[in-house]
Amino acid sequence: METGLGNQNGPIEEIIYDSETGQKLIKKGTVTFPPRKVFFKTFGCQMNYHDTERMLFHLKGLNFTQTEEKEEADLILFNTCAVRDLANTKFYSNLGETKRLKANKGRVVVGVGGCVAQTEGKELIKKYKHLDFAFGTDVIDSINDLVYRAYAGESKFKMNAWDRSENFSIETKITHGSPQAFVNIIKGCNKYCSYCIVPYTRGKEKSRKMAEIVEDVQRLVKYQGIQEITLLGQNVNSFGKDNNESLAQLILELEKIDGLELIRYTTSHPYDVSDELIAVHGIAKKLSRHLHLPVQSGSETVLNRMLREYTPEHFLNLCEKLRLANPNIVLSTDIIVGFPNETEEEFQQTLELLKKAQFDFIYSYAFSPRPGTKAAIMEDSLTDKERNTRLRQLQKYQLEIQTQIRSKLVGQTMRILVDGTNTMRGILTWKGRSNCNRIVHFHPEAVDQNYQWHWVDVEITSATGLSCTGKIKKDHGRIPPK
Ligand code: SAM
Ligand code: SF4
Repeated sequence: METGLGNQNGPIEEIIYDSETGQKLIKKGTVTFPPRKVFFKTFGCQMNYHDTERMLFHLKGLNFTQTEEKEEADLILFNTCAVRDLANTKFYSNLGETKRLKANKGRVVVGVGGCVAQTEGKELIKKYKHLDFAFGTDVIDSINDLVYRAYAGESKFKMNAWDRSENFSIETKITHGSPQAFVNIIKGCNKYCSYCIVPYTRGKEKSRKMAEIVEDVQRLVKYQGIQEITLLGQNVNSFGKDNNESLAQLILELEKIDGLELIRYTTSHPYDVSDELIAVHGIAKKLSRHLHLPVQSGSETVLNRMLREYTPEHFLNLCEKLRLANPNIVLSTDIIVGFPNETEEEFQQTLELLKKAQFDFIYSYAFSPRPGTKAAIMEDSLTDKERNTRLRQLQKYQLEIQTQIRSKLVGQTMRILVDGTNTMRGILTWKGRSNCNRIVHFHPEAVDQNYQWHWVDVEITSATGLSCTGKIKKDHGRIPPK
């Protein structure tokens, strides 16, 4: 029986029903898949979480449902991150644990995907006897073929080929019921910043066509109730270069979609932020008033060694232009502390930049040498201890800045999209993110009131450096007023 399921590259998937139990089974090639459970362990950035979501979507076609309990899983999949050593170490310790699980439970299939598998797939397969297969970042959409091969009896194989097709063409796949979706618009990165492993694990830059993305988002809004999208890529500012298109044009096209309320994008490279894009921040009605713009360092000499292609002055000038285009824009950044041979003076220049730029929040990391990158073999006089001391110093400094910025928010009313609850000292609060990406907590009007995915106006009554709390002014329900 042909069902219309299946994929172009592998054996067709078809639905059959067990004649005795009536249970739904999926037949793919020679293998029959009864209902099974998959456990995902994802490390790293939004891109990886998005890839995991895609894999779950595909695996539903092979009768898998997701479980949060590793012990009850039939299939365990790791989606790995190679950007810093910490995520790497966590992954290896998690992978080690699955050996015991497999020994206790018997037939559990274990696969490793993502950035670590892209570069080290072969070694992983060789070293970890209990690992069934490894797959790279470009074969996420072939997950069902890999799982099929494992259940057909093949073991210890890897697939980490690059996608050689000229264009990047996909359809966004989501399985959750939330009104927020990540939409991949560009993959890979051509920048080769000296510290970064991404170009080696995600390959060359390739953009989707604008028309395809617009259709994709129209479909998500119309049929899946999506109201907020985040356009994703390692350097979204490079979007469309090969097709004579731009991120600015894409945002203006997406704005026209009725029912789409909010557009975010991440991540940006300061060198590629165009005047056209800055202008769009001033005129686009649905574009978030928040921009994450990673600067990495406030020292010109360190930025040179990082191969970042801009100076601190250029970066601060961008911040100024963005604030001129939209005085309400909120900026955040990434900082790497302790780049090889960073001097005390160079570190102080980063603190100065933080003071001048007045970021709303930052993500900060101690430099972590990544094998194969230029920075990993640079001369380096710093110890890990010195790096960590500087990191704590920088975080303390920034927290004071953002505490000051946020204290001015008290009394303001913010509209948020509610995305969950928290319990603080036994008291339940609801929380969501504002248009400008601030996390806001509020107390429900009645204990049993459900605000999930409602648009709510909240008046801020107190604010710390990390979050705001307020009282609810108006609950608009699931559709915000025009
Ligand atoms: N594409 C983005 C950009 O251009 O900034 C970010 C990509 S990277 C996955 C996210 C962040 O990880 C970077 O902004 C950087 O701050 C940090 N990062 C990357 N490589 C690192 C390394 N070797 N050590 C410490 N932090 C690193
Ligand atoms: Fe890595 Fe971002 Fe630089 Fe690309 S632009 S190499 S992803 S830090």
